[in-house]
Amino acid sequence: MNYKAFHKLSYGLYIIASEYEGIKSGYIGNTVFQVTSEPPRIAISCHKDNFTTSIIQKSKIFSVSVLKQQLDTSIIGEFGFISGREFDKFSKVDFRKSESGVPVILDAAIAWFECTVVKEIDAGSHLLFLGEVGNCDILSDEPPLTYDYYREKYRMLAPKNAPTYIDKDKLGDGKKPEIDEPAQPENPDEKKTDPGHSFTCTICGFTYNPEDGDPTAGIPPGTPFEDLPEDYKCPICNAGKEYFI
Ligand code: FE
Repeated sequence: MNYKAFHKLSYGLYIIASEYEGIKSGYIGNTVFQVTSEPPRIAISCHKDNFTTSIIQKSKIFSVSVLKQQLDTSIIGEFGFISGREFDKFSKVDFRKSESGVPVILDAAIAWFECTVVKEIDAGSHLLFLGEVGNCDILSDEPPLTYDYYREKYRMLAPKNAPTYIDKDKLGDGKKPEIDEPAQPENPDEKKTDPGHSFTCTICGFTYNPEDGDPTAGIPPGTPFEDLPEDYKCPICNAGKEYFI
C-alpha cells in the first residue's frame, strides 16, 4: 500500500470549537465536509481523546471556522498541538458567541458555520458528528488554507490525533530515504557557507530549513540552526530549540 496516495486527497484546515457549561474548547481539524444541501448539513471527524470531542458530545453544538491561507501559524500551534485541558486557547484570539451559544473563532478565518449535532457515529478512533448548519457567513474573500499548502509550504505533518495522520515510516516508498541530505561541497572552502542540516520539531513536525531561514521570526535565509537565538521557538507549536532534532 502506498500511503502517499492519501496525500492526494484534498482538504482544508479549520478550527472546530464548542462550549459546555462555560468551558470553551477548540482544535484544528481538516476533516470537515458538506454532506447534504437540503437541509444543509456538514460532518466533522474528531478523535475520541480530544477534549473538544467531549465538549461537543455534551453541548450538541459546534462551530467551524475556515482558516485563511496566509496566517500567523502560531494559531495552528496553539489550537492544533496543545490540549484545551491545560491551556486557555481562547485567551489570545478574537471570537464571538453565535446565536446558539457556541464560540466562533474570527482570527485568521475567512468564513464560519455554526451547527447542531443531529447524529454521532462511532468510527473507531474517531467520532463523526453530523451537524445541521444553523447559520454561516463569510468574513473575507482571501483564499482558504488547504491541507496540501499546509504540508508543502509550512512543512507540517498532521498531529497524531488527526484522522489523516500517517506515520512518517509509512510515507517512504521503500526505495530511497525521505531524509533531506544537504549537498556536500567539493571545495572545502565552500563549507564555510554551508548552512547545515534541517532540524525537525519533535512536537509538531515543523522542519527548520537553514536555506529558507524563518521569515515569521525574522531569521534570514542561510542561518544555520546552531546560530538561531537560544529563545527561538517553533513557529507552529511554540516549542523551544531543545525539541528539535
Ligand atoms: Fe513545533
